Amino acid sequence: MRLTERAHTELKKFLNPGDQVIDATTGNGYDTVFLARQVGTNGKVFAFDLQAESIEESTRLIEAEKLVQRVTFFQSCHSKISEFLPVEIKGGIQAVTFNLGYLPGGDKQMITHPDTTLSALVQSYEYLSVNGIISLIAYRGHDGGNREYNQLIELIKKMKWSCQTYPGNESDHSPMLFIIRKFKTD
Ligand code: SAH
Repeated sequence: MRLTERAHTELKKFLNPGDQVIDATTGNGYDTVFLARQVGTNGKVFAFDLQAESIEESTRLIEAEKLVQRVTFFQSCHSKISEFLPVEIKGGIQAVTFNLGYLPGGDKQMITHPDTTLSALVQSYEYLSVNGIISLIAYRGHDGGNREYNQLIELIKKMKWSCQTYPGNESDHSPMLFIIRKFKTD
């Protein structure tokens, strides 16, 4: 099973109609569409990406799928989650997805960076509801990817978050899926 599918399988277990969720790396919009379907007509997806190209492409996809009312896009760095999302929904976000690295077929310079990735992840956890879930796919094969991966491991340990990891294949540089769960307010 591809890691993106595995991430969806895990997310599905915790998503219900009416949920509010975050897509921290919109990319080509596939996670955004998946999340929008899961949260139903009364749910909300807050979707972040730095690149106009990603937001435009994903908006087209969301329109084609007739899911426009469920999604709010922010062309912004995901480290600004707490600037854009109202403080009232802190503790009320049921799921957050990250798919790191660069947009396949896009600008390989527009890559996620450890400092902003880690900041976004800490904010995501703060916004997450108890029993919520964060899925994050990290890529170790490209320049800087391994450093980002190692810093994620350190952060998760330091924060004592509950986390399971799933490698995509058996190689040392396989992409890795992190499933982080929140069981109590901390
Ligand atoms: N590597 C994945 C796709 C990742 S797409 C795969 O192979 O399928 C990653 C997306 O994150 C890109 O669209 C990129 O523009 C976006 N991105 C990079 N840095 C970001 C940041 N700081 N904030 C928000 N989005 C960012």
